[in-house]
Formats: sequence, structure tokens, C-alpha cells
Amino acid sequence: MESTLFCPACDSEDLETRVERLEIPHFGEVIQMTYLCETCGFQRSDLTITKQEEAARYRLEVTEEEDLATRVVRSASGHFEIPELDIRAEPGRAAEAFVTNAEGILDRCKDAIEMAMQGTEAEDKRDRAQRLLDRAERLRSLEETWTIVIEDPQGNSAILGDEVERTELSDEEADDLKAPGAPGADEGPEPVEP
Ligand SMILES: [Zn+2]
Repeated sequence: MESTLFCPACDSEDLETRVERLEIPHFGEVIQMTYLCETCGFQRSDLTITKQEEAARYRLEVTEEEDLATRVVRSASGHFEIPELDIRAEPGRAAEAFVTNAEGILDRCKDAIEMAMQGTEAEDKRDRAQRLLDRAERLRSLEETWTIVIEDPQGNSAILGDEVERTELSDEEADDLKAPGAPGADEGPEPVEP
């Protein structure tokens, strides 16, 4: 499987690939690949599940403390969403893969909102970001129930827990999900404009 990889950012050949195997209880083995460019610092990671799953949607309602620890695996082909925060992250070339828990997802979303807030001078956008951050605090302290939805047309993402609702995706739904990740789509988690 040895082949020369070129850095997508600077085209150099100094792309280092690291492969790590993670064993996730009740789920199986996850192979995490990290690409790191020694020339420009470009970094990207992705996950593959050795036991191939069907295209599926996972939905977790976070209502109590122990739900915050629910394991979440998101590969670069996974779409994830927290409707209560208007957060939606599409799969795409820049999509980040991670293994975390529900609380970790919320932290990532807060970071994304904060970044969006710092990136704009527009007062209405800053106000909206602040409202979302306040709401994220309420979700974190479980004053409000919230939801994580993950869909992966390649079956490489999952939410793992007894309370998780799993639905297999139809071929049509899976195809619809693949569309936003087509070459050229370069999106990370960010608040969706109203
Ligand atoms: Zn590079």
C-alpha cells in the first residue's frame, strides 16, 4: 500500500502518514489515519471502521448527565447536526474526523461559534453567536434537552449507547448525503444562517 502522497495544500511530497488503531468498547476497531505535511504544517485525519456498517442515521437525545459521556465517532464522510444550536457540519474534503463524546461535540460546536464570532464585525451576527453560546451553556448544564444527529452514507460514523436511536438510510438518502461532500465542498462546522 506504499505510494507517494502529495500534500493537498502545498504539493510537496513530505506528507507523513500515521496509522493508529483504536479499540472502542461495544463497537470494534477504528483505524485513524493522520496526514501531516512537514513542509507547510497541513494536517488532516480520517477514520475507518474495520467492521463495515450500513449507511445509517444515529440520533441521541441528551437529557441526563450520563448521556454526556456517550461515545461519538465521526468520520470525514459523516454529517452531524445539533438542531438546538443550528449547527450542521457536512462531510467534505476538509471535514474533520474524531472520536469523542457528546460533551466533546458540544465543546467543538462552541469553538466553532466563537470562531465565527471573532471573524465578524457585524453586530447582528455577533449577537446571534452570543445567543447560541448562551444556549450551548444551557445545553451543557442540561437545563435544556438537546439532540445529536449523525448520518454517514459510508457507515463509518456512529453514536454508541443504549439510548441511541439507529435507523438505516435508504439508498436515496445515502446518495443525498454524498452530494455535499463532492470535490470542491470545503466546509467545517459553522452556524447555519437563518
Ligand atoms: Zn504541505
